[in-house]
Amino acid sequence: MPELPEVETTVRGLRQVLDGQLLTHVEPRRADLRRAIPPDLRQRLTGARVTGLGRRAKYGLIETDRGDTLIFHLGMSGRWRIDPDSIGAHDHLLIDTEEGRRLALNDPRRFGSVDLVRTDSLAAYPAFVAMGPEPLGETFSADYLLAALAGRSAPIKALLLDQRIVAGLGNIYVCEALNMAGIAPGRAGGRVARPRIERLVESIRVVLLAAIEAGGSTLRDYARPSGELGYFSKQWRVYGREGETCPCGGTIRRRADSGRSTFFCPRCQRS
Ligand SMILES: [Zn+2]
Repeated sequence: MPELPEVETTVRGLRQVLDGQLLTHVEPRRADLRRAIPPDLRQRLTGARVTGLGRRAKYGLIETDRGDTLIFHLGMSGRWRIDPDSIGAHDHLLIDTEEGRRLALNDPRRFGSVDLVRTDSLAAYPAFVAMGPEPLGETFSADYLLAALAGRSAPIKALLLDQRIVAGLGNIYVCEALNMAGIAPGRAGGRVARPRIERLVESIRVVLLAAIEAGGSTLRDYARPSGELGYFSKQWRVYGREGETCPCGGTIRRRADSGRSTFFCPRCQRS
């Protein structure tokens, strides 16, 4: 499943192809993904010029000079293909540019989504209304996180996965950041001391930026003809490494809670 770094890498790849470009052909090839594709999407995007691309949590944003923003989510299996050799059954949206480049949004499982909203009402988009700050943004600080966690008895791990507290963090990055900060995943959120919270905020940034950098370094491969945007593999500290050795020398353990696996090291994650 694409996480925030993959979405960021995807947006950077799309920016190289789309930014400033006139869209000469926009073709939804089915009426819905996870939900309906706006029926007027083709008409509103064809002939529009892309004025910028961005990301909010795990959503990609493509803004046009007509005051519209296309919002895409990659769901479980979505990816953008650049200049594909041929169009297949899972290519659900095609976008051609004036330079003759072609993008295809490919999503075999169709858990992704495509929406088109007015840019000036982006903040009212349902998924964004109650969403917390971006983990890589300035608002996300130790002061902010301490205030958000104050008095909370739920496990710190569950609270970090709550999109209202911080946007776009998935299971992998939460496990990694908690390990780097030396915090036990089951500890009550409101009982993590300030120095640990400071390390946690820094650790979240470090693990996300390292993954974005890893994705960026392979971007040339993704951007080649028939390339695909959206996925890369990375070496994790604890995620998926049950029974292996933590950087501290302890043994990594796995615990299942509410359908997700928590990977952690009981030796260095005690606070
Ligand atoms: Zn350890």
